[in-house]
Amino acid sequence: MSDLLSRTHAIALDAADPLRAFRREFLIPRHGSGEQTYFVGNSLGLQPRGAQGAVQEVMKQWADLAVEGHFTGPTQWLSYHRLVSAQLASVVGALPSEVVAMNTLSVNLHLMMVSFYRPSAQRPVILMEAGAFPTDRHAVEAQIRFHGFDPADCLVEVQPDEPNGTISLAAIEKAISQHGPRLALVLWPGVQYRTGQVFDLRAITGFARLHGARVGFDLAHSVGNVPLQLHDIAPDFAVWCHYKYLNSGPGAVAGAFVHERHHRDTTLPRFAGWWGHEEATRFQMAPEFRPAVGAEGWQLSNPPILGLAPLRASLDLFERAGMDALRAKSEALTGRLDALVRQRLPQVLEVITPSETERRGCQLSLRVAGGRSQGRALFEYLQSVGVLGDWREPDVIRISPTPLYNRYVDLHHFVEEVEAWAGL
Ligand SMILES: *Cc1c(COP(=O)(O)O)cnc(C)c1O
Repeated sequence: MSDLLSRTHAIALDAADPLRAFRREFLIPRHGSGEQTYFVGNSLGLQPRGAQGAVQEVMKQWADLAVEGHFTGPTQWLSYHRLVSAQLASVVGALPSEVVAMNTLSVNLHLMMVSFYRPSAQRPVILMEAGAFPTDRHAVEAQIRFHGFDPADCLVEVQPDEPNGTISLAAIEKAISQHGPRLALVLWPGVQYRTGQVFDLRAITGFARLHGARVGFDLAHSVGNVPLQLHDIAPDFAVWCHYKYLNSGPGAVAGAFVHERHHRDTTLPRFAGWWGHEEATRFQMAPEFRPAVGAEGWQLSNPPILGLAPLRASLDLFERAGMDALRAKSEALTGRLDALVRQRLPQVLEVITPSETERRGCQLSLRVAGGRSQGRALFEYLQSVGVLGDWREPDVIRISPTPLYNRYVDLHHFVEEVEAWAGL
């Protein structure tokens, strides 16, 4: 075994890790008398220690101030959603006015499609990946039907063309140019949830806009995972959730991005609500809708303040750590996991996530040799020893080391337990 891939070396890497202190900012679930080895930040991120305090602060404002909490002090509820804008914008590479925390992901996807999927008889098509996360497929199909079109004709799905179910950029480009004149919208994920593949969003946006299509991204698995430059890449919109890599709790308030070029366009149809009305005149309660300039103008309701509070705690950690440092550690963690699996577990696990650093984020998707029954057996064994990954049918275990709270030595715990299970 090469020294660089030894457990001893991992311990040294942890000791020298500039981000090592962030692990202490999280509540790590217990396993027996120790801690779980938690690799499921792609599904539900761990609770930041600051989250309780942020929620308690709102509970106290409510107790002490009641309705006056809307208008009192720096964390007043009237503008509470704006407390996260700058930090969130920096995580996704946007202007603060381009992002808003509101609703949940699927709701935001529908709201964005109301504005940016405007099918005509000549241009009715939405292009997406085959094998997309189900909610995206459901939302797209529903939108096509809502406009009186037929998904059989108006939904184009790009099939994986690479051996492990990943999709080449060439295949995406080909599909976009093939359907170009009929494309109303290209909807694409930043990171594919099943394979862990990271897509070249800049290139995809370029192809789509070249053909006159609108572009939207589902960044559920990208936000807080890989660096994003939404303003520069300039899709029309993006949506994401905050409970995965953003560690803001189950069902946390989600996020949306609307590019600056649309901010003053009052001709865009939208499903309006009073919280999207410009703030200065909102409480005049006039009948006509005058949207706030920016992504905030897509809000409907006054937001669930208790649901937003943990996001503040989480974003403070992202600001302190910095996305560049997080990405550097993430590349090292996931690169090491990839090397360990290939070196020590080739008979047991096959890495299906692309091996190029720029085509993957935290997550490695690992296909278990022997199919579903072996896969389930290994998955359940790992759970029983406190190593948490997640399972995707029919035979894939997803392991997502996250740079805020995972250690290099955690990777060795995983590999050693797989060896123990396989009798290696
Ligand atoms: C997690 C995830 C969702 C979840 O949608 P919710 O509305 O938050 O339940 C949607 N799309 C993708 C790609 C996801 O990974």
